Amino acid sequence: MQSTIVKEGTNYAQVETGPASAWPNYKVTLPDGELSGKLFLKDQLGLTGCEISFNAMEPGAEMPFSHSHQKNEEVYIIIGGKGQLQVDGDILDVQEGSIVRIAPQAERAWRNNSDQLLTYIILQVQQGSLQQYSFGDGVLAEQPPVW
Ligand code: ZN
Repeated sequence: MQSTIVKEGTNYAQVETGPASAWPNYKVTLPDGELSGKLFLKDQLGLTGCEISFNAMEPGAEMPFSHSHQKNEEVYIIIGGKGQLQVDGDILDVQEGSIVRIAPQAERAWRNNSDQLLTYIILQVQQGSLQQYSFGDGVLAEQPPVW
């Protein structure tokens, strides 16, 4: 199952990922196998400053390895369910509404130690790259929206 690009214009791309209950069907090809429940969106959306993945982990499942990054910090945004993140040996209980920022060099892994589907979004962005943000980067258009 792949997400669908619904609409593309000169300055936008819209992708539909489906309901979170379908996210376990997404698959990513790795050098030594396949990873289920992960959908990377950088290419489909044409992202140039970050990577986003939509993720689902079945009850009782866990990442079989820890990893760190070279340049990118990650933000884990828990959408549904409960689980645990392990960051440099610290155990963090997470659930719907939890957000965790992890520095590039930290070793991380996570698991779903609950009886419900764990769904989460991971943002990956180069640490220290943000120059301006929020209202400091926004520019009000001269014309109001026309629906
Ligand atoms: Zn990562």
